[in-house]
This record gives sequence, structure tokens and C-alpha cells, in this order.
Amino acid sequence: MAGELVLIVEDNEKNRKLVRDVLAFHGYRLAEAETGEDGVRLAQELRPDLVLMDIQLPGIDGITALGQLRAHPATRDIPVIAVTASAMTQDRQKIMAAGFDAYQSKPISVQAFKDAVRAVLDRRRGDPA
Ligand code: MN
Repeated sequence: MAGELVLIVEDNEKNRKLVRDVLAFHGYRLAEAETGEDGVRLAQELRPDLVLMDIQLPGIDGITALGQLRAHPATRDIPVIAVTASAMTQDRQKIMAAGFDAYQSKPISVQAFKDAVRAVLDRRRGDPA
């Protein structure tokens, strides 16, 4: 069921617009941040159901921002999907080792992206099985 609040952390306006358009079309509510710092602050404030995290950001990077989310009780259990242009296998392993719930590479494939968002929300931590 859509309607969940998704926080997009992405510094590139074009990428943010595409993600916004896809998720809005499917009925999600959206919040947006252009930096990791703002993303962490907004996550604490809004308690979104899901965070989509770019890795390369001005200021702190997405891996550092994930660490800050995991360090606070209020945001610790929010699922976070890494959305990054780093397509190299090694980068992907490093990103998954950092503790992201899933990984989507940019440019996003609209169908795979939408499915990944749904799948992560459906197996959200703390939900009854
Ligand atoms: Mn970026």
C-alpha cells in the first residue's frame, strides 16, 4: 500500500525530479534534502518510512549520513536504500557493507526502482512477519 513518506537525499536536481515523479505517480508522499546533513535533520524531524540516499553529496557523504541515522534511536530503524552512480562491484560491496538495506544504481531503471522501494518497505524492520 502506497502513501508512505519517502525522504529523497540527492544533490542533483535532475535525479531528484525523476525519483520524485516516479514515486509521486505511485502514491508516495515525499520529502527532499540536497545534503546529507539536511537529510539526517529531516529524517529526525519527519521520521520517514524510507530514505533514498545518494552517496556522493556535498558535505558529508551518504555512508556517513547513514551512520548518523543508525546512531540515533529515532532514525535507527528507518530503511535506507543507497542510490548511486558507483556501478563498480567493489563500490557496491563497500556500500552494502555499510549497512544499507538495498542498492539501486543511477541512472535508475524506473520499474526496478519502484519494485525495490516497495520490497524494502514491505520487509521493513520491526514489522510483524
Ligand atoms: Mn550526488
